[in-house]
Amino acid sequence: MSDFDGLSDALEARRAQHLYRRRRVLESAQGPKVRVDGRDYLAFCSNDYLGLAAHPALKQAFVEAAERYGVGSGASHLVNGHSRLHHELEEALAEFTGRPRALLFSTGYMANLGAVNALIGRGDGVFEDRLNHASLLDAGLLSGARFQRYLHNDPESLQKRLAGSQAARKLVVTDGVFSMDGDLAPLPALARVTRETGGWLMVDDAHGLGCLGERGAGCVEHFNLDTDAVPVLVGTLGKAFGTGGAFVAGSEALIESLIQFARPYIYTTAMPPAVAGATLASLKLVREGQDRRQQLSALIARFRTGTEQLGFELMASATPIQPILVGEASRALALAEALEEQGIFVGAIRPPTVPAGSARLRVTLSAAHSERDVDRLLAALEQARGRR
Ligand SMILES: *Cc1c(COP(=O)(O)O)cnc(C)c1O
Repeated sequence: MSDFDGLSDALEARRAQHLYRRRRVLESAQGPKVRVDGRDYLAFCSNDYLGLAAHPALKQAFVEAAERYGVGSGASHLVNGHSRLHHELEEALAEFTGRPRALLFSTGYMANLGAVNALIGRGDGVFEDRLNHASLLDAGLLSGARFQRYLHNDPESLQKRLAGSQAARKLVVTDGVFSMDGDLAPLPALARVTRETGGWLMVDDAHGLGCLGERGAGCVEHFNLDTDAVPVLVGTLGKAFGTGGAFVAGSEALIESLIQFARPYIYTTAMPPAVAGATLASLKLVREGQDRRQQLSALIARFRTGTEQLGFELMASATPIQPILVGEASRALALAEALEEQGIFVGAIRPPTVPAGSARLRVTLSAAHSERDVDRLLAALEQARGRR
């Protein structure tokens, strides 16, 4: 078969740049101890921050829901795939986040595409933090609105761009907790600047939900921000919630607009009802998860102290995302390999996921890790240090 205009060359070039990605095959449930490609590892790379992905209560709720509702939802929400479990979960998530309503999406990527594109189009403006998650950047680019990036976590840089904009609608979009850095967006200041110019703030709290706030309701609880301050709140369920899917929470008008106009909501099959059932069980554990969040804080402190003593460069993060900054992609890979030889699984994150020259080991901690697990990671890092 002939080559499709340089496909193989592009693959070869990616390999030469140490940017080639390959998939590993997981042969166990998600958790601190995993089996990957036939070998056991202690893992520090999942987003299962509260250790709920394989929790017995979630599994039981999932099985019970499957017994009653079957497996596939069989249709989109607007035809007849919107089950009682989906509906109950939406009501529970609205109450949990302190918003009038919430709407389920099948994935976080689709929630972001759907929300941005239902709200803005040609003639409007979208303003994004330059380190936003790829799904938010893609959503903004697809919208046809004028796309502007502002400096990372810099309300002044945002303010300048908003003040210079003639756009009809202005949508400001940010991660709540930055997925590859672990730092929090300065949401009160961003909300103020956005409101002063008549714009709307959209926050994607994929990594704060479950981890931040007394009840785990994420960055809006942490900063105490109501629907006026953050009109569009996105949460994902595949991370701390341990299930899958996502939701958008906000006003009655927002949610009705998404139901009418968000194409990734309308033209897709509803998530399996059992996923909604399991998420209802997960929500209960998240709400009552103070012990898990305390355990996480203790592990984060232990990891940071230990890693800094070893002379590694950490990022300014107080969340379970604790990247070790390495620099070159090849060095990040070598370090990840050195850890792997010692039975520790950590992901090397390289461009284009992060800016060139800022490749890193994205260490993530889970409430299911023990202090001994963190100590094993620290010992392995010490061993691997020579290969940086
Ligand atoms: C993971 C992630 C998403 C995508 O969510 P999925 O449900 O995995 O599609 C969106 N935004 C951020 C910030 C994320 O980290």
